[in-house]
Parts: sequence; structure tokens; C-alpha cells
Amino acid sequence: MSIKDNLIKIKEKLPQGVGLVAVSKFHCAQEVVEAIQAGQKVFGENRVQEAAAKFDEIKKSYPDVRLRIIGQLQRNKVKEAVRVADAIDSVDRLELLDEIEKQAAKIDKKIDVLFEYHTGEASKSGFEDKALIVDALKKIAAGGYPHVEPKGFMTMAPFTDDKELIRASFKKLRDLRDECAAAFPGMDLSELSMGMSGDWQIAVQEGSTMVRIGTAIFGERDYSQAKKA
Ligand SMILES: *Cc1c(COP(=O)(O)O)cnc(C)c1O
Repeated sequence: MSIKDNLIKIKEKLPQGVGLVAVSKFHCAQEVVEAIQAGQKVFGENRVQEAAAKFDEIKKSYPDVRLRIIGQLQRNKVKEAVRVADAIDSVDRLELLDEIEKQAAKIDKKIDVLFEYHTGEASKSGFEDKALIVDALKKIAAGGYPHVEPKGFMTMAPFTDDKELIRASFKKLRDLRDECAAAFPGMDLSELSMGMSGDWQIAVQEGSTMVRIGTAIFGERDYSQAKKA
């Protein structure tokens, strides 16, 4: 099946209002362009250098394409991430938020962020402590991060075949979102980025507003290319 066919198949099954982030990591610019030509506008990458190498060029030809950084971000990559991306979905510590604000202020850019929350046993990334997310939101609400636009939350479910564990993970994120949205009525924290190729249908049942799908669109990733990318 082609990238276009895969996209059509997934979009047919996605309820209205659920966004699709096409995760193009380890796939080349040509494959991204194929997805764009099939109507896809939003892409996710988890490594900043790889993202910049592809999307700086792509955005010249397709300026309405949007790029989201979805992978763990080191502090020294934030400057480049803020420059190339439209959103950073993997904010997992306050220090990162500070750096995003600093770098975004320098180039006078507003950037959307999601808070990544650790909801499953197997995944290591994300805030472990809900209270730290609430603290960050308080600081944002107090005006401390004028270049950061919080939009909601992101998680990765545990890598398991146990559907109930996966579902519990997504529910945990939704509960966090509901709590934070109630506590900060002045912010729009509605986004729930959850669901990947193997579990997006469960995520959608649990209220996902944005699924992140790579393999089911682009096929298997060739990790042997990792060092070159
Ligand atoms: C790679 C990746 C995805 C996509 O995974 P697939 O299983 O290929 O759909 C989604 N989210 C994150 C954070 C990723 O790193």
C-alpha cells in the first residue's frame, strides 16, 4: 500500500475533530512530500536535527505544513527546535519550558506546547509528578512565559499487548487534562495527544484529540540509517 492509501485508510476511521500527526522520523523528505501531496499537513519528528534537515526545505515549498517535536528534547537542542517547529509536544520538565521561553523570546515567536505526562510503566519519558505540571501552569498563568502557548497534554502508553493497561494509561492523561482544564479556566488545555500505530483506536475511544501515527502511514522504520540521519 502507498503512503496515500495508508493515509486514506486511517482518515476514514478517524472521527471528526481528531487530528492526525504523521510521524515521519527515519523517513526521507520524499516520503513526507508524498504525504503532503496526499493532503497531510501536520508532521511529527522526534529528533531536532533530522527534523530541520527535512522540514527547512519542505516548508519552503509547502509553507502551510506544520511540524511538531514529539521526542525527548535536550536543552542544547531547544534553540533549533523552537526555530524549526510549530509545537513542542514533549515538555517533560520545567527547565525545558524555561529554555523554550528564552529561545522563543529571542526570535519573537510564539510556540505551542504540550506537557508530556508519564502514564505507563514501560515508558520513561514525561513528568512523573502531576504537581509539577500544575506548578508550571501556575507560572504560565502568572505571565511568566509569554512566548509559550500551552495547549494540553501528551503521553505514550506502555508497550504491552494488555489493552486494559493501555486504556488505563490514556484515561490517566484524560483525567489530568480534565483536572487542569478545571483549575485553569483561562487556558485552553483541551488537546490530548495520545495514540500511535498500534493503539490509536483505544486512544480515540478515550478521548484523544491528536493521534501520532508513523508506521501505519510510512511503513517500518529503517533504524540502520540512524547514524546518518
Ligand atoms: C515514533 C513515535 C510515534 C509513532 O509511532 P508508530 O508506532 O510508528 O506509529 C508516536 N509518538 C512518539 C512520541 C514517537 O516517538
